[in-house]
Amino acid sequence: MTVLGFERERLLADALSDGVVALSDTGRLNWWNASAERLLGLRPEHHQKEIMRLLKGTGIRTLFSNHIESLSIVRKVRRKTWHLTLSLREYRAGGQLLIVQDTTELEGFVNMRKDFIANVSHELRTPLTVFRGYLELIQDGAITDLGHDSPVLQQMNDQCHRMESLVKGLLLLSRLESNGPDLSMHQLFSPGALLESIVRDAKQVSQGRHTFKCDIDNSLSLMGEVNEIQSTFSNLIMNAVRYTPGRGDIKVSWKKEKDCAVFSVSDTGIGISAKHIDKLTQRFYRVDQARSQASGGTGLGLAIVKHVLVRHDAELVITSEPNKGSTFSCRFPLDNKDE
Ligand code: ADP
Repeated sequence: MTVLGFERERLLADALSDGVVALSDTGRLNWWNASAERLLGLRPEHHQKEIMRLLKGTGIRTLFSNHIESLSIVRKVRRKTWHLTLSLREYRAGGQLLIVQDTTELEGFVNMRKDFIANVSHELRTPLTVFRGYLELIQDGAITDLGHDSPVLQQMNDQCHRMESLVKGLLLLSRLESNGPDLSMHQLFSPGALLESIVRDAKQVSQGRHTFKCDIDNSLSLMGEVNEIQSTFSNLIMNAVRYTPGRGDIKVSWKKEKDCAVFSVSDTGIGISAKHIDKLTQRFYRVDQARSQASGGTGLGLAIVKHVLVRHDAELVITSEPNKGSTFSCRFPLDNKDE
């Protein structure tokens, strides 16, 4: 009976995601659960060893001298690096429990945030530097010819557009990331007219350099947020224009395929090698930074596309071959829309 009771407690303790180590009044390891074994790399021979020795060099003494409430440490166990937070609890006269929390994932988020801020600052710095350079030259009187067709004003205008697109993209991404889908904004609509207007804009940008073909089923409708779908389809079609050299073909289609309504845009452009494909939807990921920036890219388009599709239970499928072209397809499950 006692053994069964003990076994049950052991199973309960092992099911905890936090590590728990029971220490004697002299700070020796009496017992630990499975998570402590995994996170601290404990082995049977550590039984009755002093915790101070085992975690030497981590600042563990300060935790025991009650100077701090918790201690963050980094520990490498079997080639994996764990970020851990340690704290102490009294559990019986003299004895203490060392609680070990795994904060590795949280640390990953903190690093992602740092990278993101560094990326945004970098993206804004380039247009601001160009802008400031010109302003200084104008103030110094080195540039005087500022007629309405002045290349300097044109460049300053381009850089303003670039900053504006970046800020718009960031605001949209932040809204998509922080709020769940608002189903009250979803409506049943046929994307045919929307696609026609995006293709008209794309033709303007293309200036006759590409041949467009459209295969649109106007009877096929979609349940979704019109503005989000518009920015998704527009991002993909504009990318096809930007990454397809002159005389290339761009094909836009909206049709039913088995159990999905599928929007696809195929181009005969520069293509993407396989090693980049999985990373394309990360914020600021570009295969060729200079090419993206030269064509007015912010590196946020596909991140926005991915978020919008997740909010519509849809998926993005990318197939591409370098120097042959790419196809980006958005697959909306048919139960997500009415026919
Ligand atoms: P960007 O503003 O740089 O175009 P996106 O997030 O829209 O940012 O796309 C990320 C990257 O994916 C681009 O920089 C480009 O390298 C690649 N890419 C996107 N669409 C295409 C395409 N149709 N053909 C080739 N490469 C593409």
